[in-house]
Amino acid sequence: MSARSELASYAAHDAQTRGRVHAEPPAHPRGEFQRDRDRIVHSTAFRRLEYKTQVFVNHEGDHFRTRLTHSLEVAQIGRTIARLLSLNEELTEAVSLAHDLGHTPFGHAGQDALNACMKDHGGFEHNLQSLRVVDKLEQRYAEFDGLNLCYETREGILKHCSLTNARELGELGQRFLDKKQPSLEAQVANLADEIAYNNHDVDDGLRSGLIDEDGLRETQLFSRHFDEVRAKYPELNGRRVVHEIVRRMINTLILDLVATTRTNLELAGVKSLDDVRNAAPLAGFSAGMLEQQRELKRYLRTHLYQHYKVMRMTSKAARIIQSLFDAFIAEPRLLSPEHQEHVQRDGTRAIADYIAGMTDRYAMREYRRLFGIDEITV
Ligand code: MG
Repeated sequence: MSARSELASYAAHDAQTRGRVHAEPPAHPRGEFQRDRDRIVHSTAFRRLEYKTQVFVNHEGDHFRTRLTHSLEVAQIGRTIARLLSLNEELTEAVSLAHDLGHTPFGHAGQDALNACMKDHGGFEHNLQSLRVVDKLEQRYAEFDGLNLCYETREGILKHCSLTNARELGELGQRFLDKKQPSLEAQVANLADEIAYNNHDVDDGLRSGLIDEDGLRETQLFSRHFDEVRAKYPELNGRRVVHEIVRRMINTLILDLVATTRTNLELAGVKSLDDVRNAAPLAGFSAGMLEQQRELKRYLRTHLYQHYKVMRMTSKAARIIQSLFDAFIAEPRLLSPEHQEHVQRDGTRAIADYIAGMTDRYAMREYRRLFGIDEITV
């Protein structure tokens, strides 16, 4: 297939974008979504993903996924799927690269802790925060706050949000109230996220020694590829076995997703992006594959995410977030003048922005600066 095949009629076409909040000259010679992708890659929040936890805290080993490498894998998987379905690869890539920009340090533990801290102040959703990063928090342009991305990219980043928040988001929140879908490119990026994390968590989990191959063979998706690799390469052992299994699992999921989505598109008679928005979700796995994915997820939840060593890390992480939040709420003058200004402007939300923006190591350093008693330093 050529690098740039014709886009399907139901793809998001650059020329039909609903545009940017602040009007700008065309991105020529780049496409609109290509420009969005580039803006995301050049953002400060994107670079910080390198030092944010996916599952394993950043300093636990150099080979574990970080949010940055996770996002790159999502983009790679998303682009593969988009190309096979003749969708807009650049939009899928832009959404994939931006989807975790609002994530707190320390992965889901951090997000849950910050959400609890913000309970009386509107809560904290990492999805909504990713949108806030690209709409407001990035400060790179003379004429506007944020990255001023296209509507379709922003819509893709906001994959879910509460109805209360949806009501406050205007045009972008309307689809949650109307129960409509985003573009197929956004749906694909969302599923590419799932494919990426399930598979790299198998890989990282095995690497860490917290889970093992025998355990994973309880799941169908792993065991059938395990058997296939064993049969084909009986002498193979070590990490290569894992890599051969994981790449087969990714491939199987992608091919199932593409075939199922094609069928869904045909059955629904979808012809345009408007049809996509009005239909039920069209990108998806077959029923059998969905169940296999779920089985693998359940396995990872019980044996990896809830492993006592991971729990120790997450509880420590939650304590760091909670302590920082409490300290800044009690005494905003602990914040740098720049962040004090933000608090004057945005209230408690600015404290959540500050904490959410931290990398793992920055949060740990801040914690030591505020609570370390070995020495009094600033
Ligand atoms: Mg993700």
